[in-house]
Amino acid sequence: MGYEIDKSEEQWRRELSPAEYHVLREAGTEPAFTGEYNHTKTTGVYQCRACGAELFRSDTKFESHCGWPSFFDPADSSAVELLEDRSHGMVRTEVRCARCGSHLGHVFRGEGYPTPTDERYCINSVSLKLVPEEG
Ligand SMILES: [Zn+2]
Repeated sequence: MGYEIDKSEEQWRRELSPAEYHVLREAGTEPAFTGEYNHTKTTGVYQCRACGAELFRSDTKFESHCGWPSFFDPADSSAVELLEDRSHGMVRTEVRCARCGSHLGHVFRGEGYPTPTDERYCINSVSLKLVPEEG
């Protein structure tokens, strides 16, 4: 609703793998410590796996040891959308791609990580696509 990229769930289902669809379109969570970008330190840009929007840059990725890729800041604050999430008996802040509305993960604040923002964007690897920097 109101996203720049507006596809039917049937279209998304055709374009995404079952694991991608479950996380991106059904707000699922990949199992901790299993994602392909969990420990990645490659320099580059992380795009939305559903629509290709630039979401995070590798220079904001940090080792949170939480089991999912963690970033302290989005590439652009308008690249992501934050929504209150009261599922599973918790109050959390959901992070979505602002361009296509796909679920990315959650953001947590004030946990004491030594980062410039003290925010942890805890993002599923399966929601992202790393485009390594050339050269
Ligand atoms: Zn997207």
